Amino acid sequence: MRTVCKQNSCTGCMACVGKCKREAISIQDSFSAYNAVIDEGKCVNCGACERVCPNNHKVNLNEPIYWKEGWASDDVRMKASSGGAASAMMECFVDDGGYVAACLFRNGEFFFDITNKKDELIRFAGSKYVKSNPVGIYDKVVEKLKNGKKVLFIGLPCQVAAIKNYTITMPAGIGENLYTVDLICHGTPSPKILSLALREKGINIKQLRDIRFRNKTNFGLSSQNGDNGYKTITPMGVQDMYTYAFLTSLDYTENCYSCQYATLGRVSDVTIGDSWGSNQPDSEQGKGISLILCQTNKGMTLIQNSGMTLEKVDVEKAIEANHQLRHPSIAPETREVFFGNLGKGFYKAVSKCAPKVYYKQKLKENLIKLKIIRGGASPIEYKISFR
Ligand SMILES: Cc1cc2nc3c(=O)[nH]c(=O)nc-3n(C[C@H](O)[C@H](O)[C@H](O)COP(=O)(O)OP(=O)(O)OC[C@H]3O[C@@H](n4cnc5c(N)ncnc54)[C@H](O)[C@@H]3O)c2cc1C
Repeated sequence: MRTVCKQNSCTGCMACVGKCKREAISIQDSFSAYNAVIDEGKCVNCGACERVCPNNHKVNLNEPIYWKEGWASDDVRMKASSGGAASAMMECFVDDGGYVAACLFRNGEFFFDITNKKDELIRFAGSKYVKSNPVGIYDKVVEKLKNGKKVLFIGLPCQVAAIKNYTITMPAGIGENLYTVDLICHGTPSPKILSLALREKGINIKQLRDIRFRNKTNFGLSSQNGDNGYKTITPMGVQDMYTYAFLTSLDYTENCYSCQYATLGRVSDVTIGDSWGSNQPDSEQGKGISLILCQTNKGMTLIQNSGMTLEKVDVEKAIEANHQLRHPSIAPETREVFFGNLGKGFYKAVSKCAPKVYYKQKLKENLIKLKIIRGGASPIEYKISFR
């Protein structure tokens, strides 16, 4: 098997798939690793895939010149996962005549789209704790840039690296209109794991209208069917095992444990995450507070135009609460056990790795269903284990 970059190190950024004129590259997702596999029959050895791959050609990283925590106005903030920094920047960018390219959930998949319509931005809001699929978006961004439009690209650090490599060969000046925001990233599981976990709960992801991974500091899956509101996948107060596996770094694809972007040097103009080390009162923390790192002058423009409330942040505390700013997530020893048992089912695999957690939650779930005990008022608060 010939692959674009070192075996099992593919991030799934899809830049090589987009660049290949011969459609010779396909991404193999084995649950535990991605590989960009080259079809030798179609390949003409032009080298375009290898050149665009951020694993083969590293992108420059810059340390932040400015650190803040902050939040958007309440109407924007309350629809967002954290302080609404991403949504605030998207809104202002579109108001200013620009386009936004970001990730959304549609027909059971986590794709990217581009728009300059303000009423469509809501589709992007919210953290999706899964490896998203940017296939096709880079060419759309390039097309807008070539037409003299400004584009704001928001994505995971590996996806921002991809758009930067994609545009690097463009005529001077065109790339100037590209603005980038990356998310502090813990790591990402294959979306096939999410589909499997849902299927075992009797839910077909393709039939969902929307899915949420958290409500501010409450982490847990909730889904929306038709026009009804969101319903948690496990009863309120019961730990959701998909979220447990995500937050304990159990189920990421192989590449995430050696992520080159989990460092203080950042790939984008602006980096955003959760300000877990914040000293703000609980009333503000409950609504979500964004951590905002700025690396460039373009980033300063994005932040200043966003109209967000900005406050001083304790940098050391912020870093301490977000290890991804120093090093990648560490694979737990049980990761191999998890993937070794995944063939028997998602919940079976988790139960083999964390039997105490799994059976305690299972018991609680059954007691709630039998109305022997009452569920909690909300999903489990996971703030501490997210570090
Ligand atoms: C997989 C993942 C891991 C994360 N790990 C951490 C962490 O360890 N520490 C931390 O502080 N923050 C982490 N974050 C970031 C955090 O969850 C929030 O997404 C971030 O703070 C933005 O919040 P907001 O309120 O500004 O965003 P919102 O206004 O809600 O907008 C969210 C933005 O993120 C984009 N987005 C969401 N999910 C994805 C995805 N899977 N792929 C690409 N783009 C996506 C959306 O398109 C949108 O533009 C992670 C996010 C993701 C998706």
